[in-house]
Amino acid sequence: MRKQIAAANWKMNTTFSQAQELLNNILNENIRLTQHQEVIFAVPFPYLITANTMLADTVRFHTSAQNCYSKKSGAFTGEVSVEMLASIGVHYCIVGHSERREYFSESNEVLAQKINLCLEAGITPIFCCGEPLNIREAGTQDTYVEAQLKESLFHLDAAQLSRIVIAYEPIWAIGTGKTATTQQAQDMHAYLRSVLSRQFGDDTADSISILYGGSVKGANAAELFASPDVDGGLVGGASLNAKEFVTIMQALKR
Ligand code: PEP
Repeated sequence: MRKQIAAANWKMNTTFSQAQELLNNILNENIRLTQHQEVIFAVPFPYLITANTMLADTVRFHTSAQNCYSKKSGAFTGEVSVEMLASIGVHYCIVGHSERREYFSESNEVLAQKINLCLEAGITPIFCCGEPLNIREAGTQDTYVEAQLKESLFHLDAAQLSRIVIAYEPIWAIGTGKTATTQQAQDMHAYLRSVLSRQFGDDTADSISILYGGSVKGANAAELFASPDVDGGLVGGASLNAKEFVTIMQALKR
């Protein structure tokens, strides 16, 4: 079975004490994960070391960065390198979230560089893709998202690709309360898997976790995650509420 993942993206939310309280409240529920499940907390940069310490005695709970820079090191004031993240024991890094693409003009080419650096540093990238509303309305979402994959991931070999997690996040569903239907999510995930299969082979495509993101909450997670090609979720708003996120964790396939 592929890895089933509940990933929390806290974005630019919480103070330090709120972050500790939120993580504590989730961990205090003592949810035992099966060997196929994983829970990831993409917390703000300043909280990563503390979150790692809080997760030290847990199994299959990990931290993630929300971003990294596209260069290895040097005179890039204010940026954070993958080497820095690896040096403090961060396992994952979100790459290409639609907010980064939109507000920070991150192109598919720049994201390819970030993917390379993550893989070199032993960090698993959570590569985000997804179409805006006008593309969905035009019915061209498949080719749009396929191009995102091609331009950021197709330079990799199969072994490298198998170390990536993909998150399909239709932009019109992020933070809007408007979730893709289970069928829309399943259709896109199956399509993306077929695209990966053509380039990297069936075995590699079958092994990749593809998460759905876009207004996932406790009330819809179980139905979304039950789809055969949906391997969990990347969760924004609902991950800031301990009860909601625990319900989402419990909705993962076992
Ligand atoms: C996200 O930011 O990745 C996300 C899916 O947000 P939300 O769950 O709030 O739609």
